[in-house]
Amino acid sequence: MTTCKIDAIELELRNGDIAQQSDIEAVVNAANAQLRMGGGVAGAIHRAAGPGLEKECRPLAPIKPGEAVITGAHNLPNLYVIHCLGPVYGVDRPEDQLLADCYRNALKLAEKKEISSIAFPAISTGAFGYPIEEAIPLAIDTITAHAGRLKSLKRIAMVLFSNRDYRAHENYLNQKFKS
Ligand code: ADP
Repeated sequence: MTTCKIDAIELELRNGDIAQQSDIEAVVNAANAQLRMGGGVAGAIHRAAGPGLEKECRPLAPIKPGEAVITGAHNLPNLYVIHCLGPVYGVDRPEDQLLADCYRNALKLAEKKEISSIAFPAISTGAFGYPIEEAIPLAIDTITAHAGRLKSLKRIAMVLFSNRDYRAHENYLNQKFKS
């Protein structure tokens, strides 16, 4: 696990499954517009949460790219799930702004609920095709740009599924904070 301190926030990189972050209050779902089960992150989260999550999501759907909504976590070991719809690369434009909006809106919702810890997956970098090298600076720069203004949030984790994605995030952090 890699950690770095940004203002009062601890930013952590973790290699693992977003559905198994038991020390985190809110996990972020890389959702689909209908807030249904799906594959990847949405599959892992809905499978672990159980059918109550889809039921709670139904009246909140559909959501638009860049938007975020919050629900309970049902059978997940967390208090909340924040569902973000990332942009489909090359389709939803401007994709960089929409991806940054996901992180911004998730942080905003977390602050509103006075959440102290949040875990993000690498939104849009799976089925939605966003190249990881382009998504990393957007995710990390958006989080770090907001760090100084966060009140309730103390810990932000980025949960990376593959070793390769973990290392790519680690490289970016090392490069950004090396001086
Ligand atoms: P999107 O549709 O927003 O692209 P995906 O769920 O397809 O979302 O993938 C987003 C990223 O999450 C990809 O990098 C994928 O490798 C990763 N991923 C897939 N399953 C998990 C999981 N269980 N925990 C954390 N990350 C995951």
